[in-house]
Amino acid sequence: MSREILSPIDQWNKTFFTTHDLCYTPFAMITVDEATDQILLRIIPLGCERVSILESLGRVMGEDIRAPRDIPPLDNAGMDGYAVRHEDIRGASEKAPVRLEVIEDLRAGFLSEKTVGKEQAIRIMTGAPIPGGADAVIPVEETERGNGFVFIQATASAGQHIRRAGEDVKEGDWVISRGDILRPSEVGMLASVGRPYISVHQRPLVAILCTGEELVDVGETLDGAKIVSSNSYTLAAQVKECGAIPVQLGIAKDRKEEIKEKVLQGLRADVFISSAGVSVGDYDFVRDVLRELGVEMIFWRVAMKPGKPVAFWIFGGKPVFSLPGNPVSSMVTFEQFVRPALLKMMGHRRLFRPVVEAFLEEEIQKEPGKRHFVRAMISSGMDGYRVTATGPQGSGILSSMVRANGLIIIPEDREVVRAGEKVGVQLLDRNF
Ligand code: AMP
Ligand code: MG
Repeated sequence: MSREILSPIDQWNKTFFTTHDLCYTPFAMITVDEATDQILLRIIPLGCERVSILESLGRVMGEDIRAPRDIPPLDNAGMDGYAVRHEDIRGASEKAPVRLEVIEDLRAGFLSEKTVGKEQAIRIMTGAPIPGGADAVIPVEETERGNGFVFIQATASAGQHIRRAGEDVKEGDWVISRGDILRPSEVGMLASVGRPYISVHQRPLVAILCTGEELVDVGETLDGAKIVSSNSYTLAAQVKECGAIPVQLGIAKDRKEEIKEKVLQGLRADVFISSAGVSVGDYDFVRDVLRELGVEMIFWRVAMKPGKPVAFWIFGGKPVFSLPGNPVSSMVTFEQFVRPALLKMMGHRRLFRPVVEAFLEEEIQKEPGKRHFVRAMISSGMDGYRVTATGPQGSGILSSMVRANGLIIIPEDREVVRAGEKVGVQLLDRNF
C-alpha cells in the first residue's frame, strides 16, 4: 500500500498535524464509508503460521491444496452385499432367484486376489474394493445366503452400487484455496488429502485499554459513583468473536501518565484499542497521549450515531482505534470499523456483516447528517423480514443491545422512516 496515494482528507490531516501539532478541532468529520475506506486501505493481512488441522477450525487458509490422489482411491462397494457380474443375474427376482457360487468374503480395507467368474459372486462389505470381474453390487437385502452359494433375487444394471475411484475428488483437483474459512468439512477434507498440518493466516493480538476515573473491574467494590468497566469485556468478547486474540490491559484512570504507561504496552500488540476519553471532556486525555507518543491520527469523529467521537490512528503500520466510552457506542464502532480491520488482517475475503432488507414496524425519527445504527430485533414474517427497535436508544443503554440481533441502518440524509418502509438491517447474530 503506497503512502503516496492519499485521499484529500488524509493529505490535509497529515499537513495539519505536522504544522499545528497541538490543535485538532478543525479535524473534519467524515462519513462511515470514508472512515471504513481510510481504515481498510491501511490494513495489511498478517503472515501465515503452521497449525494442526483441528486447530485450524475457524481460521483462514493460507495456502492452496491439491489432492495428491483420487478419493476414493479405488472403485468400491456402496452397500453391504454381493459383487456380481450383472449379466449373470438377468431376470432374477424373488420368485425366480439366480444361484451364484460365493468364492470369498471381502471386508473393507482389503483387496481381493480373486476374479469373479461366470455364475460366481464375492460377499462384499461397504467400502471394500470391487474385485476383478464384478461390475455390480447386489444389496444383501435382495439375496438369500446358503452354504457356499447365494440366491440373488433382483437384477442389476452395470455399475449399480459401485462408487467410482475419484468420484469425490480426482487426483490434482484443487480442494481448498487460500482465503477459504476452515469449517469442519474443510478440516475433514484436509485429513482426506493427507495433510495433518497446514498454513493459516495469523490472528492479531488486540490490546484493549479502558480509561475512566469512574471504572472498576468486575468483582471489585462498587462504591458511590463507580461503575463496572463493561467495555473491557464487551470489547474482548467482540475481538474473540471475530477470531482474534484479546489482551486485556485493564483500566487506566483519567491521568495522562497512567494512560501513557498502558498505551505503551498496548502499542506492542498488533492492534491497540482504547475505550473512552476520546471526546471533548476536560479529562479526555487519550488523543493527547497518542499524539505525544507519535501515533499518527488518520481521522477523528465520524458522522454516525452512536459512536461519533471514534478516532483511528496508525503507529508503525499498526492500527490503533480510540473508541468512545459509552457501552453501545464502543460496541457499534467496533462492529463498523474494528471488526472489518481484524478480519482483513486474518485473511478473510468477506469483511462485513450481511445486510438484509426488512419492513420497519414502527416509525423512526432522527436528525439528518449522521448515519444511525438502531438496535433492533429482526424476524422473518410471511412476506419477508420485519424489524423493530429494541427500546431506548441512548448510547449507554446496553440492555437494548442485549435484546438486539441486528442494527437498522438509517442513511445520513433521512429524517424520518415510516412504518412499513423497507430498511437495511445489519445482522449481528450468526444464528439468525
Ligand atoms: P467518555 O468517553 O469517557 O466521555 O465516557 C462516556 C460514557 O461512557 C461515560 O458515561 C462513562 O462512564 C462510560 N464509560 C466509559 N468507559 C466505560 C467502560 N469501560 N465501561 C462502561 N462504561 C464506560
Ligand atoms: Mg471519561
